[in-house]
Amino acid sequence: MDFTISEKMKTILGMIDEFVDKELIPLESEFLTKSARSLLPVFEEKRRMVKQMELWAPNHPKEYGGMALNLMEHALVSESLGRSPLGHYIFGCQAPDAGNIEILHQFGSDEQKEKYLRPLVDGKIRSCFSMTEVELPGSNPVMMDTTAVKDGDDYVINGQKWYTSSADGSEFAIVMAVTNPEAGPYLQASMIIVPIDTPGFNLVRNIAVMGHAGEDYFSHAEILYQNCRVPQSNLLGSEGHGFVIAQERLGPGRIHHCMRWIGICNRAFDLMVARARDRIIAPNRKLATKQIIQSWIGECAAAIQAARLMVLHAAWRIETVGKKDARKEISFIKFVVANVMQKVIDRALQVHGGLGMTDDTILAFYYRHERAARIYDGADEVHKISVAKRILKEYEGRQVR
Ligand SMILES: Cc1cc2nc3c(=O)[nH]c(=O)nc-3n(C[C@H](O)[C@H](O)[C@H](O)COP(=O)(O)OP(=O)(O)OC[C@H]3O[C@@H](n4cnc5c(N)ncnc54)[C@H](O)[C@@H]3O)c2cc1C
Repeated sequence: MDFTISEKMKTILGMIDEFVDKELIPLESEFLTKSARSLLPVFEEKRRMVKQMELWAPNHPKEYGGMALNLMEHALVSESLGRSPLGHYIFGCQAPDAGNIEILHQFGSDEQKEKYLRPLVDGKIRSCFSMTEVELPGSNPVMMDTTAVKDGDDYVINGQKWYTSSADGSEFAIVMAVTNPEAGPYLQASMIIVPIDTPGFNLVRNIAVMGHAGEDYFSHAEILYQNCRVPQSNLLGSEGHGFVIAQERLGPGRIHHCMRWIGICNRAFDLMVARARDRIIAPNRKLATKQIIQSWIGECAAAIQAARLMVLHAAWRIETVGKKDARKEISFIKFVVANVMQKVIDRALQVHGGLGMTDDTILAFYYRHERAARIYDGADEVHKISVAKRILKEYEGRQVR
């Protein structure tokens, strides 16, 4: 693997780092204390600045106004943006829109692309992805109760979803619903675009997650679909291909998520080291003089480096052998990086003592919000089992002495 960063990317990353430091990190105390909706005009202004710098939508297609960076390039961008919880949103590459953009680009009809994809990449609208159900295991999503039944030229959708992230204020949802109950388990569901002003699309509540319901982009909703009727032309891709399309979002999306988490690790680590160097714990004694703190610093630095290399390696595998053959590496990074991040945030918070528990630093926010990384996009256990099964298969018929 070649780790050289091109001159073009060095310039881009330098500009992004400077923007995050100067424009976003200073905004975080307001972000932590005010409602997200009240800050939308400020966020809009920052987004305008990003567009002026021609750094908008780094991973999205050029013909729709993005920069079309490749997977490795965007991985590095994602790491830089991860240093602030506002990074991806302000640069127009936030989940779940990023994944929705990918699948609309790949599977959308011309009409869907004009109506939904173009304004989405432009940041004029937002979207959400509605798959997980309240009563059934998200870890085994083929168990799905939501149905979309054909009636005339329409689909009529009924079901109860939750954790439809960022539904509040979105223009449309991409909903997974069973359209072909007689087919095999992975060919029963379809993805359907549902504008949220459709009668029967009921946003029940923004769920309180770790004590905070949030709003607008920074929220997770419960949605009740009650006889929600949309034209059949809102089907994304082919009928029954919902899981096939979902697989397509997986590889590159995982790299972006994991590099965002590495960015979070870097930020928490910086805060930890700075605090250890500054905090006086006895006359003429800084916290950093204590061996246990030095040990945490060493451990965290090595863990971040190892996790980062794993993600870059997985990205390289996707680019060189393709998503299918890189499945093991794609699963590895999900649980390894999520756990490294959790440990690094925890250590950084501990080093800050009581201050770490407050919202005077970003650490408590990360501690609350990023715990979910071990659950969404496949829980730790699911990925470990899937990796183990693959490995066990590789050993079939192999003589080991
Ligand atoms: C912050 C956040 C944002 C989310 N955003 C979205 C979104 O935008 N759209 C969306 O559709 N969904 C979203 N989700 C939902 C997420 O995808 C599910 O929570 C996840 O798939 C797990 O499903 P579940 O919660 O039903 O847990 P379950 O499937 O009930 O699993 C519970 C636990 O059981 C264990 N487990 C599960 N399967 C196995 C197994 N085979 N072997 C051993 N142990 C197992 C794991 O520890 C797991 O955590 C989000 C979730 C969170 C927390």
